[in-house]
This record gives sequence, structure tokens and C-alpha cells, in this order.
Amino acid sequence: MITDKLQPFGTTIFAEMTALAQKHEAINLAQGFPDFEGPAEIVEAAVRALRSGDNQYARSRGHPELVKAIADSVKDLYGLEYDPMEEVVVFSGATEGIAASMLGLLNPGDEVILLEPFYDSYPPGLAMSGAVPRYLTLRAPDFALDGDALKALVTDKTRMIVLNTPMNPTGKVFTVDELETVASLCREHDIIALTDEVYEHLVFDDARHVPLAYLPDMRDRTLTLSSAGKAYSFTGWKIGWGTGPRALVDGAQAAHQFITYANSTPLQVAVAFALRNYTDDFRAQFRTEYAERRDFLVSALKSAGFTVTAPQGTYFIMAGFQDLFTGDDREFAYWLTEKHRVAALPPSSFYHFDVEEGRRLTRFAFCKKMETLELAAERIGKIGK
Ligand code: PMP
Ligand code: GLN
Repeated sequence: MITDKLQPFGTTIFAEMTALAQKHEAINLAQGFPDFEGPAEIVEAAVRALRSGDNQYARSRGHPELVKAIADSVKDLYGLEYDPMEEVVVFSGATEGIAASMLGLLNPGDEVILLEPFYDSYPPGLAMSGAVPRYLTLRAPDFALDGDALKALVTDKTRMIVLNTPMNPTGKVFTVDELETVASLCREHDIIALTDEVYEHLVFDDARHVPLAYLPDMRDRTLTLSSAGKAYSFTGWKIGWGTGPRALVDGAQAAHQFITYANSTPLQVAVAFALRNYTDDFRAQFRTEYAERRDFLVSALKSAGFTVTAPQGTYFIMAGFQDLFTGDDREFAYWLTEKHRVAALPPSSFYHFDVEEGRRLTRFAFCKKMETLELAAERIGKIGK
């Protein structure tokens, strides 16, 4: 009974792999969610909000405390100014933000450029909108953006480019030059940008996160999405948001008001508390801890015989398994989960154009306690033996 629009997409790979991991009692490095808690004080802020009667519908565009905290935070971080009441919208996670933005801003037949591999909800979002995806494949190991190939995809129907930086699943952080390539196309052809920056605080080494909206003339063409799920390790709270010029926020809001109308009131209050109180020091510590987890898992995977390049951002590692297993990414992920009791994610679901690219790779999430990663490393270390 599933509509023709959604029939091609089946069940999301996250649900499939998490169910498989549970069935085999495997360590779940497939779906990206922390197995540790975010700051206890932020949980307490949610409890306080629950107890103090913040329990009815929130304002549809977002609780005033939260939209103000978002606008102040984006100004502190990047110097970008947004009117909290007009140019910010709160969603049920960035996932709703993606769908609502596509539904509210695209007409049937509009063309949208997606850079693959991508978070799996982008193509279904376009399908629900009746928009037409145009794919550009970024290739391992560095997933560099080919400006000419990108330009070649632009037609007079191109309405939107979706950019995810830091990028899931590749761990790539787009350079300023690459961002400028995207920005110049947007300016020249009057294209809007939907940027998914949910991993904005997860960058390592010398990499810096630069919002596309920061580039000249891009603030008014870009709707930027982020999420407390990633920033504070509360993926189950599903509080995400968008910032952008009024015209783009109004588009996303036009859909959002009929999808969820509003999101959890007490959790919005708690995320406002987090954005005001858990800033520079917290984020520096967050990055340091994640860099340790990344280094540990990268080295464990290398010693086990995987081909790995350390990611510059996100909490994902893409690894080649060609020296360990003959078969495709799905067969590998099932084998690893069932036989070695570590679940990884087959990334071919993140490719729609050059699916073969994804079949040679597997994705590991390292948003886990060190002891979880140590146990996973022990199991992975036995694969080749
Ligand atoms: N975008 C990307 C790139 C993601 O990896 C995710 C998944 N965490 C999301 C969006 C969705 O975020 P949320 O959990 O806030 O819906
Ligand atoms: N973003 C997370 C990941 O890529 C999971 C998102 C989801 O389960 N929908 O693993």
C-alpha cells in the first residue's frame, strides 16, 4: 500500500542494521547515536521544564527561549545574524528540517543537486516534493568536489543544492574553496542552498567548519540546518532547527506547521539552556574526546586490515574491506554483525547514481564509550585470523 513516491526507498538502513545488531547482540557501530549520556545538567533543565508546567503546545516556529538562544549562538559562533522570531524555525530533528524544507520550498519538476554519498533522507524528501534529484558522486579517498562536474549539472530548472558539511558518511569537511565553488553557482544561477550542518561542532585537527551562509551573498540564499541530537548527544530528543532569510524560513515553516505543528516544549526549553550554558569549553572538550575515539578506532581498523583515511569531521569512518572480505557492502555488514558481532553500516544506500562506489566501503560510527570501542576493536582484530 506504500505510495509510488516512497515505494523505491524501502526501510531505512538505520532501522535495518540496528534491528540486526540487536538480534545478534552485536556492538552497534552502524547507526550513529551515542551510547553515553549528554550533560546531566541539561537533562535537569528538561526535568525542571516538565515540572514547571512547560507542557502545552509550543509556538509553531519554535519556543521563544529556544529561537532566541539559537540566534544568539549562531551570532557568537559565526557572526551571522538572524531575527529569532522570523528567521529561525525549530523542527523535530534535522530530519524533519530536511523534509519540511524540501516540501515547503520546491515545486514538482524543480531540479535539486545532491552530492552523494548522502544522509539517506534526502532523496525521499525530494520524491515527496515531486522534485527531481541530480547526483554528483564524490569519490574516496578524499571525496573532493569537482567544480566542473557540479557546474555541468546545472540547468534552467535547478532550484536547490543540498550540501552537508561536515559530511555524513564520508567525514569530509568542505574547504572554503569548495564552498566558494558551490556559492558561485548559487549566485550565478539564482539557486538556493539547503545546508545540513548537524556535525558543525565535530571537526578535527586543522579542519574548520565554515557555514556556507558565511560566504559573501550566501546568507540570503541559504537555509542552514543543525540539531541538538549531535551537538549535545541527545539524538532521542529530536530537536533540530533551521536558520535563514525570512523567505526560506517561511517556506520550511509552511510545511512544518502541517507536519508536526510544533515540537516538544520542555525539551526546547532544555536545549535553550544548553545553547546558553554549554558553549566554548564544552565544545572544545567534546572535540577532544571525539578525536580520541576517532584515533583509537582508525588505528584499530588499520591494524585489522581495513583501508582507512581518518575523517576530518563527523563521528563516522568510511573503511575499505577489500583485503578482508569478498562480497559487497551489505554482505560484509551482515557478516560482520552476525559472525563477529560488530555492526557496521553498508553505505550503498547513501548512493543513488554510482551505487558501486558504496559497495566497496563500510561505515563505522565512533560515537561510543571508549570501553565499547575497545570491545569492538578486540572483535574486529580477530577478523583476519
Ligand atoms: N543530517 C545528517 C547528515 C545526519 O547524519 C543526521 C542523523 N543524525 C541528520 C541529518 C538527522 O538529524 P536528527 O537526528 O536531528 O533528525
Ligand atoms: N544520523 C545517524 C546516522 O547517520 C542516524 C540517523 C537515523 O537513524 N535516521 O547514523
